[in-house]
Amino acid sequence: MTPTIFERIIQREIPATIEYEDDDVIAIRDIAPSAPVHVLIIPKRVITSVDTLDDADAELVGKVFIVARTLARKFGIDASGYRVVTNTNADAGQTVPHIHFHLLGGQPLGRMNSGAERSHAPARSGVLRDAGLIVACAIGLAITFNALNTKSIPWIKKEYERITLDSSEITTYIAPVAPTASPAAEQPTQQQQSTASTATASQPAKEQSTFVPTPGVVREITHAQFKAFLASGPYYLIDARGAEKYAEGHIANAVNFYGGEAEARIPDMLQSVPKDRVILIYCDGGECELSHHVADVLKRFAYGPIFIYTGGWAEWTTKK
Ligand code: 5GP
Repeated sequence: MTPTIFERIIQREIPATIEYEDDDVIAIRDIAPSAPVHVLIIPKRVITSVDTLDDADAELVGKVFIVARTLARKFGIDASGYRVVTNTNADAGQTVPHIHFHLLGGQPLGRMNSGAERSHAPARSGVLRDAGLIVACAIGLAITFNALNTKSIPWIKKEYERITLDSSEITTYIAPVAPTASPAAEQPTQQQQSTASTATASQPAKEQSTFVPTPGVVREITHAQFKAFLASGPYYLIDARGAEKYAEGHIANAVNFYGGEAEARIPDMLQSVPKDRVILIYCDGGECELSHHVADVLKRFAYGPIFIYTGGWAEWTTKK
């Protein structure tokens, strides 16, 4: 069976912020926290959910609660209050099929059972119920279609912070050093055929630069700045458009990570994207949502600096 994301975190294949660990249990910060304190307490043994627990797991589950208490004290939420919950199977919204317990706190958490109360409310009328059913089916079909479609639409439009790079700042992210004859950029880990570009990564550098890591920095850049980065030092170039557009043509050496699937491709990205290079991302141009989706994920995993070429493919094909 394919290992779950939690098994990969336990095996140190994927990074996570570890708050506690012993032979039986690991506790990590949730990647998308629902409260100021949101820690996942995960038994290391491969157990799918509460539903597949054995009697022999009683001690392990007891330990989980002792770890929860210890962490609550560590985070100073023991007196104010906290919640320890575990989701089991689809109706509860379990998304990772490896048993885990959410420790939540740091703010008032509200009541737990509003959803259950709603489902017990008496039905208003048959007509309303049928209409609701039809709408629900239509939404369900749309969600399924969207999920199966490679060009699926991200459901929630996220507002990204859009900061442009001042040209005087370039040397903050790549420090110029003496010219050498070494290549401007090493080949990306996935070698790609280019149909569209004159800028190749194997051209000798006019001026070499050293990489200055700045985790979490995301800046939008112009065509001229993009070209300066291509020419100045090792970079990793990502095309955030869909696979079909990428196949039709892309900038030389670009690797394709579709922005609409950025969350799903986290394991691939962590494996492929190096941390010792400037990361350049482009999509069609304009709002650059697809590029921002990719940048957002990489930023979470402490990549940086990351530069989004806002002109994107549309501008590149006219200017190069
Ligand atoms: P569930 O929905 O199964 O009860 O909870 C799964 C939790 O795992 C979610 O809250 C989700 O944010 C978290 N999660 C999913 N992938 C990762 C990851 O790669 N790293 C971390 N730290 N948490 C993750």
